[in-house]
Amino acid sequence: MMAQILILLKQSENRRLLVEYLKQYYEISVGNLTAQSKPASLLLNEPFDLCILDGVALTYLWEKIQARKQQEQPVFLPVLLITSHPDVKLITRNLWESIDELITKPIEKTELRVRVEMLLRSRRFSLQLDASLIRERKLNDLKSRFIAIASHEFRNPLNTILGFTRLLETKRNLSPTQQADFLQRIQKAARRMNVLLDDVLITIKSEANSLTLNPVAIALKLFCHNLIEEIKLSLDEPRTIDFVHEGEDNEVYFDQTLLQQILTNLLSNALKYSSSDSIVYFKVKIRPEAVVFQVQDQGIGISPQDQQKLFDAFYRATNVGNVPGTGLGLVIVKQAVDQYGGTISLTSEINVGTTFTVTLPLA
Ligand code: ADP
Repeated sequence: MMAQILILLKQSENRRLLVEYLKQYYEISVGNLTAQSKPASLLLNEPFDLCILDGVALTYLWEKIQARKQQEQPVFLPVLLITSHPDVKLITRNLWESIDELITKPIEKTELRVRVEMLLRSRRFSLQLDASLIRERKLNDLKSRFIAIASHEFRNPLNTILGFTRLLETKRNLSPTQQADFLQRIQKAARRMNVLLDDVLITIKSEANSLTLNPVAIALKLFCHNLIEEIKLSLDEPRTIDFVHEGEDNEVYFDQTLLQQILTNLLSNALKYSSSDSIVYFKVKIRPEAVVFQVQDQGIGISPQDQQKLFDAFYRATNVGNVPGTGLGLVIVKQAVDQYGGTISLTSEINVGTTFTVTLPLA
């Protein structure tokens, strides 16, 4: 993006020359210093990367400039003063504090350009630094929340495993059915820990923007059929998933893992949060410009208040009862959808059902 420079100069001839020259390289806004100099002080509230001003503007506006610099911290907002030698002596300490660089008249073009570039470079560095600091902080935040929840979420299945292995070890007279039952519970708990771990790792990874897309040609209809079969296999009881497919079944290019994450999470949720005798509807519409996936259930629904926070990490709605979950599935879905430049929306009504719609553009 082109750097934006705000120019606040009293002297109109200087101003014109400066604007003429700099607008070849930068986006320029010019403040009006005549009259009450109000427009200039308004411009100081708008975004810019560098402010070039003269002694007059500095005298008028130094408080505003300092406030603006403060407000941008820790990001560096450079101010360049254009001055003549006699001015320099007149400038008081207060005014100095608002300035990062000065250039004396008559202005030499190359020198001006170099100074401007140096200041803008510092600005860019500090912007980058700030962005990575924010990302780092978000990631740290997520990690500490994970540690808090992990101790809680991991403990249940872990206790199950420990408990039943101890029983298997110590109880002499277990029937084969009991043994099989215990083993199944252990396996289920282990699987749950596996899912939890996967979810957390994916979330942290995609939060750190380290997921890279690897698009491959996918025959969508077949892909969805296989996915449904896979999900059904992982269920404790048989369920009906009504799959409808609209449009040409041409191959589409998507990252398999991401697509699988999106659909598996939505379908599992639809199954998890509805009664076992209800049907889950899964519709895929292939359009020339995008693919629309719709997952509809007749389950417990989501209240309007809960809908607002649904995509926050670890958030679970108040009506989940004892349905197990991590509150990470939809975070993963949202991140995957965002990576595609797609959209996700939902409509829901308590005790009636929920419909999630994901639209992924076909690049
Ligand atoms: P979880 O592992 O808890 O299912 P998700 O991130 O997948 O986590 O979903 C977050 C929350 O959104 C769930 O805890 C649940 O409250 C709500 N939710 C998601 N899908 C549905 C659905 N189909 N029906 C009702 N509630 C849902």
